[in-house]
This record gives sequence, structure tokens and C-alpha cells, in this order.
Amino acid sequence: PYSLGRTILDYDARRSAWLAAHPEFPTRVPPAGRPRVLVVTGSAPARCPDPDGDHLLLRAFKNKVDYCRVHGLEVFYNTAFLDAEMSGFWAKLPLLRTLMQTHPEVELFWWVDSDAVFTDMLFELPWERYEPYNLVLHGWAAKVFEEKSWVGINTGSFLIRNCQWSLDLLDALAPMGPRGPVRDRYGELFVQELSGRPPFEADDQSALIYLLVSQRSRWGDKTFLESTYELNGFWEGIVDRYKELRRKGRPSDLRDGRWPLVTHFVGCKPCRRYADSYPTDRCRRGMERAFNFADDQILRLYGFEHESLNTTAVQRVRDETGEPLDADDEELGRLLHPTFRAA
Ligand code: UDP
Ligand code: MN
Repeated sequence: PYSLGRTILDYDARRSAWLAAHPEFPTRVPPAGRPRVLVVTGSAPARCPDPDGDHLLLRAFKNKVDYCRVHGLEVFYNTAFLDAEMSGFWAKLPLLRTLMQTHPEVELFWWVDSDAVFTDMLFELPWERYEPYNLVLHGWAAKVFEEKSWVGINTGSFLIRNCQWSLDLLDALAPMGPRGPVRDRYGELFVQELSGRPPFEADDQSALIYLLVSQRSRWGDKTFLESTYELNGFWEGIVDRYKELRRKGRPSDLRDGRWPLVTHFVGCKPCRRYADSYPTDRCRRGMERAFNFADDQILRLYGFEHESLNTTAVQRVRDETGEPLDADDEELGRLLHPTFRAA
């Protein structure tokens, strides 16, 4: 069967040895000692056939850059097909594998789809909670293990630890992904084995659910399914609520009405004509609102906001004083780079 490359053995010991020899690259970073994280995202090598597509990708990446700056996270954007067999949504597999080996200093990789938008700029992941796990996805155990639902998890935004277990997981997924007849055959298998799975070629999300269900003892213990906040939030139920969310303010605890961390435009494909599962207008308007809702959180620090969630035009909302910003305002202060915040 297809493989991602030479089997890697003994990785944990080799990584530990490297880390011991390079104390200048600790796997935990200040100020709070959270794990070192690399946000990984990407899009196709070719330009979008839709005239709007690349501009949407630019704005989606601008949004990620904003979130990463506020939280002090590094980001990697890939546009290369590292492996011709692993095209489309499978491209993340060879990418994560090679990044793991090249960045032993990174403890967690955070894959974020190009069509996933950060919509709560201040939300910091509860890193401590994930300490015992190697894989963190948004989802529900009952939906995965009882219903075998193909949407029991979502692979648009997930964390994966830099370790042997993760390399093994990538190796276990890869044989289901090579494009052509193999990918088609696994697509048919997933239709049979998973509930609600429409017929189309094998995707990495279905493959992961299939592995979790069929080899639970091998993968289940180290996989954490998060559902207390939207590590991945499905756009349809979110995009019309931004105004209301903003009016109510940002809850700082677990109260209902917490802002969605991620709004993911699943099924909207601005770069693939005719492939949308939803009306293009609705996708397009929803994206505009998500970008502007997120951007307003950033612009507020600089004294501006959008005139409405549906327009790119901005207006000034704070008088210019000529004074350096006094970050006494608790929420504005948190938008500053963590290095300044720590002072
Ligand atoms: N992707 C990529 N290169 C490609 C196609 C896709 O890197 O040629 C990435 C991109 O980040 C995209 C993700 O794979 O967001 C998953 O695909 P998509 O978002 O279209 O799937 P959906 O979330 O709608 O199921
Ligand atoms: Mn996506």
C-alpha cells in the first residue's frame, strides 16, 4: 500500500536527544510556559479560478496572522503539493510529517483550514487540559463511537503533538488517501461504515473517524474530543449571530453565548467552481461578516471599526489623543503582543 515515506522509528528518543542538546529551543515558551505551537495552514498552488477567491484567501490569512500575533504563535503557510498522491484535503498529512521532523522544538502543531476564520481574537486555548493527549479535535465521543457519525469530529482545526504516536497516526491514515481508485474505494467503504456519509472520494476526516472507531484501543486514549468551546464552529449557525454576540459583549467564562473561537466555512469552496454545497451568496456574505467581526476586534485597538459587518469601510471610534496607548483598558491591553503584556 501507499506510504508517506520511510518508516520512522524511535522518534521520541531522537527528539528528546535533540532537545537535550539544544536547550536554547525549549518546547515551552514564556510568559505562561505553554507548549511551543506552530499554526499550520495552506492552500492550493494554483490561483483560484474564481476572481474573488484569492482575495478571500488573503483575508482569511490576514485573520490568522492577527490571531497568531495576539497570542504569540508562529505560523506556517504552505502552497506546495509535497506529494502528488496526497492532493486536496490530504495535503496536510505529508506537510505535518515533514514539519514534525524539521521542527523538533515545536511541541504542538495546530492545523487550521484556509476557510476557517478566528472569530474570538482573545481566546487562549486551555493548553493544560491537553497535556495528556496527542490529538485534540472538536467533536463528541458519543457521535464518534456510538453513532459513527462522519461529522462526529472535524479536521478543519485540530492540535497534534510532535511525537512518534502522531507519526504513526499519519502513517495509518495515509494508505486511505492516494488519489484515484484507492481514494475512491475508501470513499465507498466510509459510506458503508459511517453514518450520514454522502458518497464521494475518501477524505481525511472520515478516515480518522474510521480509524478511531475500528481501532479505538490503539488511538482512542490519546485523542481528546473538545466540545466546551468552538475549536471548530460550523459557519451556518454562527454568521447571522455576530451582531447579537457583540451587543451582549464577550463573556470571559463558560457562560452560554461564548463567542465562537473558529467559524469554519465547511462546504463553501470559493476556489472550486460548482463545488459549493451551499448557495455561493450565503457563503460569501457569511465570510464577509466573519472577517469583519474578527477584524473589528483588532481594529478597536487602533481606534477603528467597520461601519457594518457587511462592508469593508471603516470609521474612527476613538479620538486621537497623541498619547501612546495606555493599555490599562483590560481588553485592549490583551490585544497587545504577549511580550508587552507580560511586562
Ligand atoms: N488545502 C491545501 N491545498 C489544497 C487544497 C486544500 O492546503 O490544494 C487545505 C486548505 O487549507 C483547505 C483544507 O485543505 O482549507 C481542507 O479543504 P476544504 O476547506 O476545502 O474542505 P472542507 O473544510 O470544506 O471540508
Ligand atoms: Mn475547510
